[in-house]
Amino acid sequence: MPTTKVAGVQVSTDHYIDGKRVPSKRTFPNCSPIDGKHLADVSAGGADEVDAAVAAARRAFPKWASLGPEGRHPILSRFARAIQDHAKEISAVETEDNGSLLIGNAMRMVPRAALNIQFFADRALKLNDEKIDSPEVVNHVRYDPAGVAALITPWNGPFMLTTWKVGPCLAAGDTAVVKPPEWAPLTCSMMADLAAEAGIPPGVLNIVQGIGEEAGAALSAHPDIDRLSFTGSTDTARLIGASCARSLTPVSFELGGKSPFIICADADLDAAAQTAAGQYFNAGQVCLAGTRIMVDAKVADEFLSKFRAAASQMTVGDPREKSTRVGPLITPEHYKRVEGFVDRALKAGVKPIWGGHRHPAGSLYFEPTLLEGVSQEMEIVQREVFGPVLTWQTFRDDEEAIELGNGTDYGLAAVVFSRSEERAMRIARRLVAGTVWVNCFFVRELAAPFGGSRNSGIGREGGNWSFDFYCDVKNIAAMKGSFA
Ligand code: NAD
Repeated sequence: MPTTKVAGVQVSTDHYIDGKRVPSKRTFPNCSPIDGKHLADVSAGGADEVDAAVAAARRAFPKWASLGPEGRHPILSRFARAIQDHAKEISAVETEDNGSLLIGNAMRMVPRAALNIQFFADRALKLNDEKIDSPEVVNHVRYDPAGVAALITPWNGPFMLTTWKVGPCLAAGDTAVVKPPEWAPLTCSMMADLAAEAGIPPGVLNIVQGIGEEAGAALSAHPDIDRLSFTGSTDTARLIGASCARSLTPVSFELGGKSPFIICADADLDAAAQTAAGQYFNAGQVCLAGTRIMVDAKVADEFLSKFRAAASQMTVGDPREKSTRVGPLITPEHYKRVEGFVDRALKAGVKPIWGGHRHPAGSLYFEPTLLEGVSQEMEIVQREVFGPVLTWQTFRDDEEAIELGNGTDYGLAAVVFSRSEERAMRIARRLVAGTVWVNCFFVRELAAPFGGSRNSGIGREGGNWSFDFYCDVKNIAAMKGSFA
């Protein structure tokens, strides 16, 4: 079985189909963004591997579904524990593979991944309880497993973001075919081994590695999938949506963002500055990042000096080091894309308050950057850069803040800092966003809804919203007094 050793961990480079490792003749190279080191040649799946994985998932479905939430719960709990037990290895491989901060993976992302599995396994036990009384009938609400789900995930947090789908999908009684991101495919491969270790039956969780335009496209066009959950870019979602429209496969899309970060004059400016500097974490490759800094003109100078001090603490460098806060961009192509956005903005007359160039840490490292002199219609304000690049705007009053905040095609998240609860809530209610954080950022309760509005997504997951998607929700309307 072909494997590669990364961060001292042996990782399979094959697919995982029907409980077995399956190679492809063709492979694609996988390199670390930290230093360009070649990590692996990974099996490049296509239509044949996708067919085999969907068929295996289909075969496994009736038995997995028939276990019910109670039968699946101990197996999924073992899976969650296996993730927690291997947190160190998973974190180390993820960091090598996608350049995300080791400390962030170890402290936050991998524990969260284990929780994603456990939370939905627990939550599924409470489904099917609801009864809605009406004069003639009792309505019994059922959450039936829907079938085979295709799960397609991005490179910026592949392990955690995949468990965010796998958790509710398997807890609902569906079986899964996962297509991990080709730029960071290794930890999803590890997930297959942990699933096997936990006793998840063959065919319930399948992994097909490969290039998006090939393996991903074959999976989204497959006629025998019942659900497709995708996290990635808005452009890819349009292609996947077109494929799924042909088979009327329901989709859940979690897409890109260009979130406003609004600082009111009455805000705790120290807290706001620290949180604003945190938008540079993982080199800004965070969908939820509040990349449009918008501050009340009355406190703009005071806030900027605090923000400058906080941003200067964002050490750029090797993401394996504890002190690093800003690591590399994922690939040379993505680096050029980020640089292109900044170059075009500078040509249009925008000025860097700081940053704007390559960082000496290496060829894929970009300086934390703040750009002023932007206007709302500019590309740098309207398009997701997915790098450590923030824009700076000021506003005169709350109305203008809301107008600027809502002034893009995205609607993933927003951040509001104010000491007035009434004011913060008034602004938050009028922002178009799946999540608005008030005086905080990135705090996510698994029971709460999560998703994006406008071009940032379709649907909501989290809590029972996940089960609304992964299940066929059924009403059994039983006539009162009709039973012997
Ligand atoms: P991407 O759209 O390029 O790729 C995502 C996945 O889709 C990968 O697995 C890729 O192989 C696959 N894919 C690519 N082309 C495909 C096709 N034609 N058919 C089917 N699958 C295809 O996105 P990315 O660059 O990996 O990730 C970055 C994007 O993801 C950013 O826009 C970011 O905002 C977004 N994102 C959103 C969330 C969220 O929760 N809303 C979370 C993380 C990332």
